Amino acid sequence: MSVLRDSKTISAADTAVTIKGWVQDIRNLGGISFVIIRDRYGTIQVTMPKKKIAPELFEGLTTLSRESVVSITGDVKTSDQTELGVEIIPSSFELYSNAAVPLPMGVIDKVNVEMDTRLNNRFMDLRKPEIRAIFELKSLMLELLNEAMTSNGFLQVFTPKVVASGAEGGSTLFKLDYFGRPAYLAQSPQLYKQMLMSTGLDRIYEVGPAFRAEHSNTNRHVTEFISFDGEMSWISSQSDVMSMIEKIIDHILNGLKEKGKKQLAVLGKDVNVPSVPYPVLTYSECLKMLSSAGMELKDGDDLGTEGEKLIGDIMAAKGQEMYWIAEYPELEKPFYIMEKDGTPYSFSFDLDYKGQEISSGGQREHRYDKLVERMKKKGLDPESFDFYTDAFKYGMPPHGGWGIGLERLLVKMLDLPNIREAILFPRDLSRLSP
Ligand code: ATP
Ligand code: MG
Repeated sequence: MSVLRDSKTISAADTAVTIKGWVQDIRNLGGISFVIIRDRYGTIQVTMPKKKIAPELFEGLTTLSRESVVSITGDVKTSDQTELGVEIIPSSFELYSNAAVPLPMGVIDKVNVEMDTRLNNRFMDLRKPEIRAIFELKSLMLELLNEAMTSNGFLQVFTPKVVASGAEGGSTLFKLDYFGRPAYLAQSPQLYKQMLMSTGLDRIYEVGPAFRAEHSNTNRHVTEFISFDGEMSWISSQSDVMSMIEKIIDHILNGLKEKGKKQLAVLGKDVNVPSVPYPVLTYSECLKMLSSAGMELKDGDDLGTEGEKLIGDIMAAKGQEMYWIAEYPELEKPFYIMEKDGTPYSFSFDLDYKGQEISSGGQREHRYDKLVERMKKKGLDPESFDFYTDAFKYGMPPHGGWGIGLERLLVKMLDLPNIREAILFPRDLSRLSP
């Protein structure tokens, strides 16, 4: 009797086995042929000395098309020629699925394939171990994130993704027809997670899709991304939120470095874990730093992509990859952020990683009158947000929170060139399929 084995568990102690996978490669060297079978964990070599294998079996296996899916049964032999230290001498095989020829793109060929071709054939692209490794790390990231949140007393919640109003500005809202009424895809769980602070749940988080009708075609914007949001009550200042984020990211990065060793090795990457606490720069300090580097911005200006990058370079020269930019001008920030009274600034922060924003957050305005005032100041009609403002009318604790773009964190950690590398099926200005 043969036992089912994959490339992770097969060993010289096995005698008769069945393996299942994709035909990655076939090499015919005259008297001997090899079929390389790939499964989730790696590859196994099937070795066929022509004289020792039944002719139909030899013929059947050596004429398979690349990427066909098969099951092969045979004897395990030790081998010093293979990475696993074993090879299989086949006695039978079954063809589950015959791959058409030619393939839309290669799996092992060392040619550079355009990103568009790769994304158009993502099922094929994902057969490459170094592409799958990114998503194994993303999954591990979620596991670590959940650990960190649970151990800090956060409750996981789910808020609606079809909503009546946006929180992050009208220009990136996707409009829907909701049974004849206008509705939108949620840009963030902002309003809902704040409403939950009035319930006594105190600490909540959500990991879910966020939708932005981004008209810019960049390597860090997509129209659907995974947002990791948290909100916590009873804070004394935004620093409480910043310390919490530091704890969480530190747990995630350390965990990935430790538990993601195998995937990181496949990618040829190492994770550098920045030490906590991360340095805090204020927006005003950033303006000065940029000015010294030759970039003049007026107080109140957006730092912009170029400004963020330049700050990233200056901080990198000081050995800092992760840092806060705090106290942005209140004019730059959404209505729900608390103003720093008597100044044009606000209790807000961004977390930047290697010159790019990965998170925004801050202390929220929890005082009903001030909130309504701020909405009006931003040109919003508080009445159309009454489902939200009501939660502030009847008792709301001081609170703050954040939104982290999960893919941005992963991409920056791995120094990947494009956010699309960290999304299985990305959505952007031009891409709606697959
Ligand atoms: P940016 O200025 O980089 O466009 P933002 O300030 O508009 O980002 P926020 O509204 O602060 O974004 O959203 C919180 C986080 O969500 C961001 O820090 C980022 O990590 C992520 N994020 C926002 N928009 C996108 C997007 N279009 N694609 C991927 N991630 C995004
Ligand atoms: Mg932001």
